[in-house]
Amino acid sequence: MDCLKVLEIKKSKNRIDYQYECEGSWNNLLNLDERLFLEMEEDIENVPDSIAVIPLLVNILPIAWVYNLKIKVDAIDRNFFENLDKIKLGYINMYPQFSFLGKLEYDKIEDNKYDATNCGTLFSGGVDAYNTLLNHIDEKPELLTVWGADIKLDDVKGWERVKNNNQQASQKFNLKWFYVKSNFRTFIDINVLSKMVSSKIDGEWWHEFQHGIGILGLFAPLAFNHHYGNLYIASSMYKGMNIKYTCASDPTIDNNLKFACCNVFHDAFETNRQEKVKNICNYVKNNNIDDLKLRVCWQSSGGDNCSECEKCYRTILEILVLGYDPNKLGFAFSSEKRKVMMERLPKMDAVKENSYDFYRLAQNELLNNYSFDETPEDLKWLRDYKFKGKPNKFRKFLKKVKRKLKSILEKI
Ligand SMILES: [Zn+2]
Repeated sequence: MDCLKVLEIKKSKNRIDYQYECEGSWNNLLNLDERLFLEMEEDIENVPDSIAVIPLLVNILPIAWVYNLKIKVDAIDRNFFENLDKIKLGYINMYPQFSFLGKLEYDKIEDNKYDATNCGTLFSGGVDAYNTLLNHIDEKPELLTVWGADIKLDDVKGWERVKNNNQQASQKFNLKWFYVKSNFRTFIDINVLSKMVSSKIDGEWWHEFQHGIGILGLFAPLAFNHHYGNLYIASSMYKGMNIKYTCASDPTIDNNLKFACCNVFHDAFETNRQEKVKNICNYVKNNNIDDLKLRVCWQSSGGDNCSECEKCYRTILEILVLGYDPNKLGFAFSSEKRKVMMERLPKMDAVKENSYDFYRLAQNELLNNYSFDETPEDLKWLRDYKFKGKPNKFRKFLKKVKRKLKSILEKI
């Protein structure tokens, strides 16, 4: 069995560098030009190797399992190790198309104990993250963000904006904010891994295998330093979804990640997106907050909402059906933009197909909150809008052909 052997976990002040040697297939699955590193804003030299190795392990264990490979480490945390089979089982149940084998060997197993006095929550500034933050606000969680997940390491400007937004959010709630910077998305060969995944399922490595425990585990050294008892990650899917999906960040996987005295919770899996938006709106109304900045946009670079993509439109709609002002939640939403949105939205495929149920939930909320006469004129289309439902295989196929043709035509 080809082995990846961890040779050294080099801790210098606020940085960890991982040295490892690879045999056989490992050489093709990792990008050996860059070794994994982590940077924080605090000294982590005192963190034991059995904890410091976790950021590496969470990002390579799924590779070892899928490709039947071995990992060898010197020391490992007992709580982490003893729950690994449950994490693996989460993957096994999610992806019956794959065999999950592989092996993790260690020389010594260590108990890492402390009085758990603190907690943290992953924070991106989006609807899911804000809902989870507000769910646990009484526990005074520390807000945690990764530089190197959706913001690339060379996007310094983008990161500065995200940093400012998240710092502002933490100050608003009188909480602390921390970040970890890491090349955890690029030290593996994402192209090779994704190609293999897409040959068996409709997806790619990051979304299907890496991004849940791969992000959470990056915070193990910090969680140890700060004596976390709980670490929260917001759910982006919800239990009652009308569509079958697979996603690496799932309660059956995330909730089994444990280390030292810290438990991970995949939060609000029972709560749908419209309910989350409602929780946030209720909170800001009740606490007279009028400048909370949601960050939902995939289109604009660097943290602001464009207020005109499908994700922005969807969130704005979810706010409007509650009778709240999107301008108070981070959207620049003029009456002109509103007019354009109401013309465009009913014709958009995402609305017509409504695959993830979001628009139907917004429709229900509108019907609950407004009679026909009370409904704002430009929202009346949503009252009796007929969703076409999930795209069928033929429509999916046509879309694929259309995309292919477009890309060929663009090349001519
Ligand atoms: Zn947008």
